Amino acid sequence: MWRITELAFNPARLDFTSSGQGFRDVTQASAGSARLANAIELTSWDEEPVQLEVCTSCGCVRCAPGGCASLRRTGRHVAVIPAFESMLGGDWPASQYSPPACMRSRGALLVELEPYELLRQRAPGLPEAKNLKPLRAREAVRVFQWEASEFLVGRFPDPVELRVSDVLATSEAGDADRVAEFRAMLADLAGSDRAVTLEECDPDLATVFYVDSPQVAECRAMVADQTGVRLFLEPGFVIKADL
Ligand SMILES: [Zn+2]
Repeated sequence: MWRITELAFNPARLDFTSSGQGFRDVTQASAGSARLANAIELTSWDEEPVQLEVCTSCGCVRCAPGGCASLRRTGRHVAVIPAFESMLGGDWPASQYSPPACMRSRGALLVELEPYELLRQRAPGLPEAKNLKPLRAREAVRVFQWEASEFLVGRFPDPVELRVSDVLATSEAGDADRVAEFRAMLADLAGSDRAVTLEECDPDLATVFYVDSPQVAECRAMVADQTGVRLFLEPGFVIKADL
């Protein structure tokens, strides 16, 4: 996940002359060089999924494909994740509900509550963080798959399953046991609707999986401690199930 500690709000002018509407002044939200929303005033913030990038010819939500995401509460952050459920079902929904370019290249966003509140002040209809749907275990697993090597767990929309034959080794002793633990955890989470929260953790504690791919890929995948085995999400989180 890509952690967002600050959002910038910049004025922009969209050219709607092709739809007979002239020019429209809007506000865009960005994090560094990545644009999160192209017209805060025009997005329907309470929709599921929410379209963060609206049509640049007319400003209407759902007129143009893509730019979509789901907002989820995860404890101390708001997760902006690809709209996995909406994208399932074929090429049309996969294209129609695909995420904005910044999420295709860098994965899901994890927005701290302070910038989220600043966005909310400017975005009529954006729910309070506590009123968002919780992140579900099966969604957290999809986030992991979205960001990990496809040679480890396949690629969306394929089911999230450990490709055991492609795992060359792990960073811990007892490779076969680690692989079995990770595989069982993925299967459990992938079929679960449990709400989960994200806890910060030291990435050096994560077990690394070395995966056979055109170049050997290294994926930090899980953290094992006395409480059990937990899924690791970059850059340094484990998921905790709300039991
Ligand atoms: Zn349009």
